Amino acid sequence: MSKADIETMTYEEAIERIPDENPPSFWIGSLEKLQDRLDEVHRGTVETLTSSPGARPIHLVTYGERESVESRANFNSAVASREPSNYVDRSERERPVVFFVGPVHGHEVEGLTGLCNFLSVLESGEDLRGREQQTLRDLAEECRIVVIPCGNPDGLARFEPRSLCGMSLADLEFWGQGTWADDRLIGWPHAKQLHPMAGDEVGFLGCYFNDDGVNPMHDEPFDPMGPEEPAIIGAIRREAPAVTVSLHSHGYPPTFHRPKYVPLDVQADSREIHRDYNALLAEQGFPRSALHDVAAESGNPPPYFNLVSAAYHVSGTIGLLHECPHGLIGENMFDISHEGVLDVQLALYEAILRHAILR
Ligand SMILES: [Zn+2]
Repeated sequence: MSKADIETMTYEEAIERIPDENPPSFWIGSLEKLQDRLDEVHRGTVETLTSSPGARPIHLVTYGERESVESRANFNSAVASREPSNYVDRSERERPVVFFVGPVHGHEVEGLTGLCNFLSVLESGEDLRGREQQTLRDLAEECRIVVIPCGNPDGLARFEPRSLCGMSLADLEFWGQGTWADDRLIGWPHAKQLHPMAGDEVGFLGCYFNDDGVNPMHDEPFDPMGPEEPAIIGAIRREAPAVTVSLHSHGYPPTFHRPKYVPLDVQADSREIHRDYNALLAEQGFPRSALHDVAAESGNPPPYFNLVSAAYHVSGTIGLLHECPHGLIGENMFDISHEGVLDVQLALYEAILRHAILR
């Protein structure tokens, strides 16, 4: 992991570092632009799942009929009955359900941009650049598509640059993980030391967190602190998706992380989708990361349980964790344009839909 070249940043300094030029019009980096896109949803259905501590709505957008499949038991009881189909028999469905969880880290707007462009494809066949995406639309027509465009509207509201493309690791650390009260950049993974991120130790609250300082990726799944994580997990439990992806971003080339605390078969499915995704990236000339491993949980410190782990444990879904490049510049960072970020996102969705349909 790299380290930012500066150690402290004030809010005023952070604002001063934001480039003058706005991101391109297909880029969605704010709640206002998200709302504009939701207003353009006509073929799909938009509902409000819950509200954040800052009283901002979390939306769910769906395309394709919800098939009524009998569910006699919750997932873990169904598995214990030795018949997971007592939860949902996915083979009875005509079309697989694919669930896209947009950024739960407010500054990771690459996933928000990707999903809003995906909604545009589902509406019109074209992305927000006006480019036809017939393959993606055809694949989506064979599925029920469920999208939470933004999983942390409080964090997104705090994200003033709208994009980190062309900025540095220090900017990512400021807006993403925030600062301690003495203006020191917190960075990753230190932003997980204090949770909720609240109290006298905290300076600028990073976009990782909702207004109460809760990071929805690491909420307490058995006794939630914030409303976002249970709303997302509840929707996954109701939908019983074949595949669920949680969209994140970092400074490096696109990659998947191993879904942790899930059966090895499910990890292997994630790895297979990663391989197909890498093939699509290669076609477009993007760099790829090595496929994640398939492993039993062990080590000191042990692997962590997160939102993707929880998604499996309520639904049996194949849970994916995708990291998209922000387009940061600097040592070890992967420099990519706004256009490139969108292409990476759309390639990911294609790989996921293909897998869900062929299963
Ligand atoms: Zn993230």
